[in-house]
Amino acid sequence: MAVQLPNLPYAENALEPHYSAKTISFHYGKHHKAYVDNLNKLTSGTLLDGKPLEEIIMAAAGDATRVGMFNNSAQVWNHTFFWNCMKPAGGGRPTGELAKRIDQAFGSYEKFAEQFKTAAVGRFGSGWGWLALDGGALKIVSTANADTPMASKQTALLTVDVWEHAYYLDYQNRRPDFVQAFLDHLVNWDFVAGNLGKAK
Ligand code: FE
Repeated sequence: MAVQLPNLPYAENALEPHYSAKTISFHYGKHHKAYVDNLNKLTSGTLLDGKPLEEIIMAAAGDATRVGMFNNSAQVWNHTFFWNCMKPAGGGRPTGELAKRIDQAFGSYEKFAEQFKTAAVGRFGSGWGWLALDGGALKIVSTANADTPMASKQTALLTVDVWEHAYYLDYQNRRPDFVQAFLDHLVNWDFVAGNLGKAK
């Protein structure tokens, strides 16, 4: 069974006005789909054909002969994760255990948000901003291009895509405005809390 493009967890217009149906139709329907199609072409007839996505990512990570396979598999995973990190009428503050852990790690939600924005907006070129677990500690990291926390033995909790294709139609060059809207209106904190719960 080849890797599949998962369904979006909401309708294409569900995140408007903060993330348009037009952006999602390109970002999900063209970019995400292309990573799936490219990955399946690259794995076809190899030992990784039909393997679970995470297994392909980890087998290709750090392997100079499998750069394309790593880039496409990690981008498939990152995008599926990103869609789940958003929901209609999301954003604002986390609650419960997750809120406590964020306060402990960063001092306050405001300090977390500042650091997250700095990491995501400051990523030079294409990449991703993350909240991740690293050896049991909450950390904000950014990765370049397709790179993904699991390749560094970290567990992803939250991500924002800061490739230009993620925001250009809605925000043009205003990456900070996109990341702010993501935090204020789009984050699905229930998904993030679930990721933290599973990681324990
Ligand atoms: Fe993207």
